[in-house]
Amino acid sequence: MPTITGKTKLLGVIGHPVSHSLSPLMQNAAITALGIDWVYVAWPIHPTELTMAVAGLAAIGVQGFNITIPHKQAIIPLLQQLTPVAQQVGAVNTVWRTEAGWHGTNTDVAGFISPLQALNQNWSSVTPVVLGNGGAARAIVVGLAQLGCPCIQVVGRDLDKLTVFKTSWPDPALEKLLEVYGWDALERLIPATQLLVNTTPIGMAPDVTASPVSDELMKTLSPQAIVYDLIYTPRPTHFLQQAKRQGAITLDGLEMLVQQGAAALEIWTGQAAPVAVMREALQTYLE
Ligand code: NAP
Repeated sequence: MPTITGKTKLLGVIGHPVSHSLSPLMQNAAITALGIDWVYVAWPIHPTELTMAVAGLAAIGVQGFNITIPHKQAIIPLLQQLTPVAQQVGAVNTVWRTEAGWHGTNTDVAGFISPLQALNQNWSSVTPVVLGNGGAARAIVVGLAQLGCPCIQVVGRDLDKLTVFKTSWPDPALEKLLEVYGWDALERLIPATQLLVNTTPIGMAPDVTASPVSDELMKTLSPQAIVYDLIYTPRPTHFLQQAKRQGAITLDGLEMLVQQGAAALEIWTGQAAPVAVMREALQTYLE
């Protein structure tokens, strides 16, 4: 843990609930490795107190903070500036202090695509299937568009929510890339895809035997496909075990968590984040 002094600079995460967050563990490991006089803590903020809390964080000189559920969209009107990527996603997970006030961005996009970029694929010939259309799926859609995927197929269980999802993008180019489908389309979409991404919480601990797709459906996936689960507890999820049996390349959500945190720390401190230290802190804890 970092040593707290009279000059310690404050960072943190706001959410409701927030006690499950692994960011304090990961960021304080990084702060200790960097040897800087900063500390990162978790602040539970009820939705009705968000405005007062954000003003309070400014008043006590907090340098920056992360935002988790349920505040990622609600915080936007409380910020003075937004990066283009945060505007595209319509959600903010990282905020930092400037002379003009709070500046917000979304580092989930960079965190999500980082392990995909390491695979060195030709993304212009990949038509991904994204399971779920909640908050995380928005950052995933922007990330897949950044990679150059020509069409992004989003599958959900609620057709009304899917319609809203399809039409809720400030950038019309994103809406054009998107196709939305009900869950029963998976029989047709899975055999034809090269990248299958789970953004639903299905299979997350404690419900570790659940998967968003059946064994039969996973057996129709190409063995050359990449299967990416945003969940990082358990490692691997049942979904990724099914994909491994099929011969697919698998990625879990741990690297996304590490990379979105590293990108945030670099914004706050202006220093290169000790990514290996952050990854190891999480791996050790989760094991
Ligand atoms: P969210 O906003 O609640 O969205 C969840 C989505 O999953 C919604 O579309 C929901 O559908 C769907 N869903 C939930 N249960 C389902 C079921 N039984 N069958 C079909 N669809 C179902 O949550 P989120 O913020 O997007 O997070 C989703 C997951 O991503 C969580 O497991 C979270 O831990 C993970 N995540 C990981 C990272 C990382 O860094 N690795 C970052 C962000 C999120 P309805 O809208 O119809 O309910």
